[in-house]
Amino acid sequence: MTLTSAIEVVNVSKNFGSYTALDHVDFKIHQNEFFTLLGPSGCGKTTLLRMIAGFESPSSGSLLLNGQEIDQIPTHKRPVNTVFQNYALFPHMTLSQNIAFGLQNLGWDKSRIQARVGQMLEMVHMEQFASRKPDQLSGGQRQRIALARALAAEPEVLLLDEPLSALDLKLRQAMRDELRTLQRETGITFVFVTHDQEEALDMSDRIAVMGKGRVQQIGSPQDIYEDPKNRFVADFIGDTNFLEGEIINLERDRATIRTSLGADITTTYQSVDGKGPATMSIRPEKIGVGDQAEGQVFTGRVVSRNYMGGFTHYTIKVGDVELRLSRRNAQSQQHALEIGSETQIGFKDANARILGR
Ligand code: ATP
Repeated sequence: MTLTSAIEVVNVSKNFGSYTALDHVDFKIHQNEFFTLLGPSGCGKTTLLRMIAGFESPSSGSLLLNGQEIDQIPTHKRPVNTVFQNYALFPHMTLSQNIAFGLQNLGWDKSRIQARVGQMLEMVHMEQFASRKPDQLSGGQRQRIALARALAAEPEVLLLDEPLSALDLKLRQAMRDELRTLQRETGITFVFVTHDQEEALDMSDRIAVMGKGRVQQIGSPQDIYEDPKNRFVADFIGDTNFLEGEIINLERDRATIRTSLGADITTTYQSVDGKGPATMSIRPEKIGVGDQAEGQVFTGRVVSRNYMGGFTHYTIKVGDVELRLSRRNAQSQQHALEIGSETQIGFKDANARILGR
């Protein structure tokens, strides 16, 4: 038996005049999934979210909700709700009234509404604030009420448009955990939009990385970080070193690239058509330094050093190539590498990736 997808985006394009905001986008979101649309500003993620909500329609292609064409479901009957960045709470209403509002419109009876509002306040740990107004709350508390309100009518899909971006760093971190727990507890499909890759990696079951109006890659956080499909994804997710080179051998599942480091690296590849110019990507944390240099080892010179607490970031120059790497500060008395000093660095071929240019 195949499970019906919560949402199917079928070959969707969207043009605004001559501008193409979405270009043949095609993917499925599973039921009960925490799915994230991640990409830089202007890549089309909000447009896609607005289509799912029904505020926008595709220029071509279609969207299915639980296997049914979304256009054929009247807006008020769509089991979809949205949480926005700016909370959008009614300022003159108490928190209870804010949560109750949508349920009244749906014609729920009074006692059912009362019970549901209580349950929702409890779910977001805000019971004691029921009779406050939104302006008597912190940003994080407001966002919790916005969530409670959006979940009150038991939608099957919750759309979240950068809901954490107005919060400060500590709160954002705490709210990430809360959102994830809420999603697991309710089993509702969450479609989360963000340009913050750390947020996406931390919370999602799967991520769609968007760029230039297209889906560049869909996968688990680990797939996307460890095995980026192309240079755009490798660059957008996390930090990496790109080295230009030339593919000198190409097999079914691995290739050998001759890099400007003066060494041949053999590893897996993506988006490569044949022999010729290509790029090698190696993440900073996968390069060992000093006595941790293993695999292909090179001698370099320390160019810069940034102490970050848990880590120290270094730039090391090997020949003409500068490589960024990070070293965990595992010992409190650990000696930092001196700027200008010579050191060994190294990485295993298997930790590098070969990508098309
Ligand atoms: P951000 O993170 O900045 O919100 P986004 O990825 O959500 O970016 P969208 O809001 O989906 O991007 O916009 C995608 C592109 O389409 C942008 O270049 C935007 O200017 C354009 N666009 C969006 N809505 C309209 C509109 N109604 N009319 C014309 N252009 C639009």
